Amino acid sequence: MTMGNCSENRKSVPELFGSAVFNDDVMMERLPKDVYKSLRKTIDEGKELDLTVANAVATAMKDWAVELGATHFTHWFQPLNGVTAEKHDSFISPTSDGRVIMQFSGKELIKGEPDASSFPSGGLRATFEARGYTAWDPTSYAFIKGDSLYIPTAFCSYSGEVLDKKTPLLRSMEALSTQALRILRLFGDQHTHQVTTTVGPEQEYFLIDKELYRRRPDLIFCGRTLFGAKAPKGQELEDHYYGAIKPRVAEFMRDLDRELWKLGVLAKTKHNEVAPAQHELAPIFTTTNIACDHNQLTMEVMKNVANRHGLVCLLHEKPFAGVSGSGKHNNWSLSTDTGKNLLDPGKRPWENYPFLLILAAVIKGADEYQDLLRISVASAGNDHRLGAKEAPPTIISMFLGDELTAILTAIEEGRAYDGAGEKKLETGVRVLPDFSMDNTDRNRTSPFAFTGNKFEFRSLGSAISIACPNIMLNTIVAEELSQFCAVLEGAEDINAQVLELVRQVMREHKRIIFNGDGYSQAWRDEAKRRGLLNLATTVDALPRYLDQKNVALFTRHKIYTEAEMEARYETIMEEYVKTLNIESLTMASMVRREIFPAVSGYICTLSQAVAAKREVCPQLACQGETDLIQRLSALLDTAYAGVEKLGGLLEAPAAGSKNVLTAGVHYRDQVIPAMNELRAAVDEMEQQVSAEYWPYPSYAELMYSI
Ligand code: ADP
Ligand code: MG
Repeated sequence: MTMGNCSENRKSVPELFGSAVFNDDVMMERLPKDVYKSLRKTIDEGKELDLTVANAVATAMKDWAVELGATHFTHWFQPLNGVTAEKHDSFISPTSDGRVIMQFSGKELIKGEPDASSFPSGGLRATFEARGYTAWDPTSYAFIKGDSLYIPTAFCSYSGEVLDKKTPLLRSMEALSTQALRILRLFGDQHTHQVTTTVGPEQEYFLIDKELYRRRPDLIFCGRTLFGAKAPKGQELEDHYYGAIKPRVAEFMRDLDRELWKLGVLAKTKHNEVAPAQHELAPIFTTTNIACDHNQLTMEVMKNVANRHGLVCLLHEKPFAGVSGSGKHNNWSLSTDTGKNLLDPGKRPWENYPFLLILAAVIKGADEYQDLLRISVASAGNDHRLGAKEAPPTIISMFLGDELTAILTAIEEGRAYDGAGEKKLETGVRVLPDFSMDNTDRNRTSPFAFTGNKFEFRSLGSAISIACPNIMLNTIVAEELSQFCAVLEGAEDINAQVLELVRQVMREHKRIIFNGDGYSQAWRDEAKRRGLLNLATTVDALPRYLDQKNVALFTRHKIYTEAEMEARYETIMEEYVKTLNIESLTMASMVRREIFPAVSGYICTLSQAVAAKREVCPQLACQGETDLIQRLSALLDTAYAGVEKLGGLLEAPAAGSKNVLTAGVHYRDQVIPAMNELRAAVDEMEQQVSAEYWPYPSYAELMYSI
C-alpha cells in the first residue's frame, strides 16, 4: 500500500477513514459469525480467546493485509523508553515443492518473543535472560503501515514483569472501571457494565526546513538547539497563534490528516501555535488505550510526512530558547458503556450527586498525589518548559472555575446553592447570534483544569507518551473512589453521605483548588503558604515516586509491583542523565570542532585586515576591528574554559555513578549550569561574528524560512 498515490488522493474522507485498519467493519465482514462473536467478547469483556478462534482471526487478518499489499507483520509495543518498537516477520512459508505461500497463525498473532535484552528495564531483567514476550491487545485494532500489518501488543519479561507502558495503562483503566461501577451501583445504576476513561491529547510541534536541520548537530542528536542567539523577532507580536497557515505547512497538514485518517486516527483540529514555526494537531477523544496508541502513531506519522515535504517535525519540549516550547494537553474524562460522561455536571451540578462525588475524588486525589502527577510529566526536556511562564508551573493545582468552586464552598459551609443562572453573551450586533456561555471559563495557566465536562492536564511535554500521566490519573481516582465506596456502601441516606464526604474533602483538600494566575510569583508564594509541593526538576520530583504511600497505591490496585516501580524510577532517572550527557557531548563537540575554529578564523581575518590597513595607512585607528578582536578573544577564552569545565564534569565520578540519584543530582547541579554558561558565551559570539563564518543556520533562518 503506497502512501499518497493518486487513487487515494481522490478518496472521500469517509472512504479513506480507517481504510488501513482491521476494524469492526472489516472483522464483521471477514470473520465467520461465531468467530466474530467470540472475538467481540474478548474485546468488550476481556474473555480469553481460544486458539481455534485466534487461528481464524489470524487468517482473516493476513488475507486482508495481503490484499492491501502487506508482506510482513509486526508486534508493535511501547517499551519504557516512551517510543514504540517493532520487528518485522514476513508471512512467507516454504512449500515442499520449493515455492512459498503466505501464512499467519493464531499463535503468531497472540504471542511474540522479541529479544528483550536491549530495551530499558531498570534492572528488572537480568541480561542473561534476554527473552521477552509480546501479547496481542485486541482492544486496539491492527493496522497496515508501509508493507507491514501492525499488531498492537503488551510487552513483558520472561518472568512476567511488565516492561512496557501499555500493560499498566490497561490495568489502571480496569481498576478505575471497577471502582466507578461500585459508585454507579450505589446510585441504583444496574445497566452500566464498564466505565472507560477517554482522552483527547492536543499535540504541539515545530516544523523546520530539512536542509537547515541537517546542518545542526544539536537538532540531529538532541532534537533541540543547544546554541542559538535570539532572532530579532520572536513571538512578541502575537501574530503566529491562529495565524493564516502558509501553503507549504498547509500541504503538510493536509497530507498528515489523510495519513492519520487512513489509520483510523480522529485528526480534527489544526492551527498555528504561539511560537514562530509552531503548530498543533488535536484529535477527537477516544478510549485512553487507543488514544495512547494513536498519539504514538501521530508523532511518528508527523515525522514521516514532514520528511516527504522536505521538512523536519520537532517534537522536543524546547527546541528553541526564548520562544514557547511544546506541550501536550491531556483532556481526560470518564464515560460509561451506555454513553454517559460522568464528568458532565449537567444543568444543576449541585444536585448531581454522582458528579459531585467523582469531582471530590479527583480533588482529594490531586492533593494527596501531587507528587505523582508531577512525576508523570517529568523529563529532561519538559524541565525547560514547566514553570517558565509558557507552561503550567511545577506546582500542581486544580482550576475548577467560579461556579463549581461556589457550589463546593456552599456545601462545605452547609449553605444552599441554587445556581448562578445562565449567562448570555450579547454581541451587541443584531445580525450575530447571542449564545449562552459555559459556566467554566478557560484558565490557560493551570496545570489541571476542569473545562466543562473533562479535566485538561496541561503539564505534559510534547515528546512524552501519554501513558504515564493517564496511569497516574486513573489509579489515583480509582483509589479515592474505593475509599468513598467503603463509606457509602453502609450509608442509609446516600445523598446526605455524599454531601458529608464532599464537605470533608473541601475541608482537608481545598488548598489544591486555585482559579487565579498560575504563572505569577504571587501564586508561588501562596502555594508555599498552603503547603503545596513545588518540585522544580525531574531530579527533585522522581525520588518521591518510591514513597511508601505511592508504592502502597500502585500495589493495592495491582498496577505495578514494588520491583516494577523501582525499575521505572531507575529508567526515568537514567534517561534524564543520558539525555543530558548526550547534550553535553554534542555541545562540546560543536564548540571544539566548529565554533572555536570559526571564531578563531574570524579573529584572524580581522587581525589580517588591521595589519593590511595599517600597511597602507599606518595612522588608521582600526577601532572597530581591534575592539571586536578583543571582545571575541575574551569570549573565545570563556568558551574554551567552559568547554574544558564541562568536559571535566562529564568525567567526574558522580557523572558515572551507579546510583542514579547521585548521577542525576550531579547533572542537575553541576552539568546544567556549566552548559548554560557555555551557551551564553557562544550565543554572544554568534551575535558578533560574521554570518559567513558562523557554522550553523541561525534562529532567524530556522524559524522563518518556511
Ligand atoms: P480546547 O478549548 O481546550 O481546545 P476542545 O473542546 O477543543 O478544548 O477540546 C480539546 C480536546 O478535548 C479535543 O481533543 C477533544 O476531543 C477533547 N475532549 C472533548 N471532550 C472530551 C471528553 N469527554 N473526554 C476526553 N477528551 C475530550
Ligand atoms: Mg485545550
